[in-house]
Amino acid sequence: MRKDFLPYGIHSIDEEGINEVVSVLKSEWLTTGPKVAEFEKNLAHYAGAKHATAVNSGTSALDIAVQSLKLPPGSEIITTPFTFAATANCALYNNCIPVFADIDQKTYNISPEEIEKKITEKTKAIIYVDYAGQPCDIDEILEIAKKHNLYTIEDACHALGARYKGNMVGSQADVSIFSFHPVKHITTGEGGALTTNSKEMDDMFKMLRNHGMDKSAMERFGKNAGYLYDIKMLGRNYRITDIQCALGVSQLKKIESFVSRRNEIAKIYNEEFSGIDEITTPFVKDDVRHAFHLYTILLDRKINRDDFFSKMRSLNIGVNVHYIPTYKFTTYQKFNINQKSFPVTEDIFSRIISLPLFPKMTTDDITDVVEAVKESLA
Ligand SMILES: *Cc1c(COP(=O)(O)O)cnc(C)c1O
Repeated sequence: MRKDFLPYGIHSIDEEGINEVVSVLKSEWLTTGPKVAEFEKNLAHYAGAKHATAVNSGTSALDIAVQSLKLPPGSEIITTPFTFAATANCALYNNCIPVFADIDQKTYNISPEEIEKKITEKTKAIIYVDYAGQPCDIDEILEIAKKHNLYTIEDACHALGARYKGNMVGSQADVSIFSFHPVKHITTGEGGALTTNSKEMDDMFKMLRNHGMDKSAMERFGKNAGYLYDIKMLGRNYRITDIQCALGVSQLKKIESFVSRRNEIAKIYNEEFSGIDEITTPFVKDDVRHAFHLYTILLDRKINRDDFFSKMRSLNIGVNVHYIPTYKFTTYQKFNINQKSFPVTEDIFSRIISLPLFPKMTTDDITDVVEAVKESLA
């Protein structure tokens, strides 16, 4: 058994990243300066979008995305329950009602057919999540949105570097969201971003992250700047620092090698588990590049997932469960959601488990996980 605990995900930061951060600390701009703009430009380019706005978390990005749509209170937003709670919380922040649609049995992504069943007069938007890093059935979802005149938000927090039918994830929906928390593909400590092809929306995002102010810091703090500004909308302080974005710029240079390494490790796991009846390895559609934020296995119904979880943890392997369906949380009880109406989510949730997966995992780490899985099943 391995001596130290192996987490399910952790960042990879090198000397170059550290030096970039130090050089910002010695510069004049600690926040709202040139590194933020540079990170945004590079991120937009990588994600194949025209614009990017960086903020202090993925959660803030989701909040701004919904706020920018200016939906009437009580509007319904359709989303998946099989995600991190932040995906649906952003509807609540903005006085909207999250409406959950069940997921697909194979990809665990929101099912387009289930979305259609949930559309009412009040539906105004769809938030879809590329679970584990596998793009949703994006064309089908965009088609539904077009037919019913709905906005689309892609929660791509798992999917930086993923491709859908040859295109990078980040430019298909009206707005796409990323997170730079340390377990995600690249990190800024905490951080997030919104990408879009609409200049008008991007301007609004930049205003909303800065109190709804009509002038940027660069426009306000120069020698020739006047003191006047206006608060055009009720924004918040969701700004990200140049210190963080310096790390982001460095991390983004490595994204391709991070995603490749994640795919390589996933392939080794797939091969190691291919002969084991009790395990279903991740299904990958053939028109995507999976970004493998998570590597999950589905356990056979005769295995108790919680026992398996405890056994793996006792062997120092940082397994996890992604995710507890959002409708189970106390904050969501008021919506009186009938859990039985999500048979696929319930079934997958009861059997799924995430194994450690991060770029700096060694061959020995991978072997430790594989051996612990075999021992835990036995
Ligand atoms: C991580 C994550 C978020 C939230 O991002 P933070 O940067 O932690 O606020 C939102 N949605 C999904 C699917 C995530 O995985």
